[in-house]
Amino acid sequence: MIYLDYAATTPVRDEVVQTIQEALIESFGNPSSTYRIGKSTKYLLTQARKSLANLLNVSEHDIFFTSGATESNNWAIRSQAELARKLGKGNHIIVSAIEHPSVMETLVFLEQEGFEITYIHPNSDGEVTAAAFVKATKDQTIGWIAMAVNNEVGSILPVFELGELAREKSLWFHVDAVQALGHLDWDYSELACTSFVGSGHKFYAPKGIGFMVYQPWDKQMKLTPLIFGGGQEANKRSGTENVPYVLGMVRALELLAEEKNSILEHHNDLQNYLYDQLNQHQIAFERNGNPKAKVPYIHNIWLKDLMASQLLILMDLAGIYISAGSACSAGSLTDSKILKAYYPETPERWSQSIRLSFGKESTKADIDKFIIQIKKFIERK
Ligand code: PMP
Repeated sequence: MIYLDYAATTPVRDEVVQTIQEALIESFGNPSSTYRIGKSTKYLLTQARKSLANLLNVSEHDIFFTSGATESNNWAIRSQAELARKLGKGNHIIVSAIEHPSVMETLVFLEQEGFEITYIHPNSDGEVTAAAFVKATKDQTIGWIAMAVNNEVGSILPVFELGELAREKSLWFHVDAVQALGHLDWDYSELACTSFVGSGHKFYAPKGIGFMVYQPWDKQMKLTPLIFGGGQEANKRSGTENVPYVLGMVRALELLAEEKNSILEHHNDLQNYLYDQLNQHQIAFERNGNPKAKVPYIHNIWLKDLMASQLLILMDLAGIYISAGSACSAGSLTDSKILKAYYPETPERWSQSIRLSFGKESTKADIDKFIIQIKKFIERK
């Protein structure tokens, strides 16, 4: 199997499996129980929250464990939008036009609830700029939303610059950091945002576990509880905590903290090799997105005149796993909304583009096999 779709999900690494297995067997107590095996499980949960806080350089009191980034995005955005409007601050939100559906669909809901949403499209250089957010801001604006790294094309958005500006303007600012966390050497204490989110399965932990960091600069902007019940997660998200998965997720990030720079170097190397090989084999292609501001582990490539959906089938038969667009829309193979936002004038680009995303185990031999299949596909045409 050649897996080149790490932006969709990552395999759970062995060390993380081991951490989870140990927790499942040895720490099965309910963290809310008052006897010893409950208390020891609670202790592990508290320690994991502290470790995550250290890794991210944020306060442990601002971390909320969730089922993943979809839940976290929904929660952070709705909570901040609805409270800001209730406090009479306004009803206008500005967002990049290349966000994940968990952000976009939350905004569709808010639009139906009477909020006004402005979408910032990439400019002709393929950049979503902070200047465009500033220009669209008006009296009624309450918040900004931008992802750190786009999951389909790998572009890096100017979230640090946006954060500084949002703070100056006292706007809430939400960042979906899913595709950056664990992979880029960022200090999240320097990211001036009121909330950001991560998802375990994008960095070698299981699916169904993630977190939100909520750190408003306006203390009136208290987080609205998401689930009522026994009062877990500081009374904001009740339900018995998934301690084994929390421990596994934090372990995964701890391991990456030590390795991420060497993995990044490896990804840079693979990136150069990929484009060298495409050129050497005279495959007609263009890179999607702005190559100057992107991560080396997500690649979106327009393969001119090749139908991506057909190429994907051939790759699948050859045991090579790549994607067209993202895997986030319930298995659909419709044209990518992200590529539509980037290239409204070139419809052929929407259906002739593929995404390749590297992980720590990816190799040049994987790329060679991928190239062989593209050539086969071209020959068959
Ligand atoms: N945001 C981004 C940028 C993503 O790539 C994903 C996963 N595809 C999500 C949010 C949703 O994360 P989860 O699968 O944990 O709900």
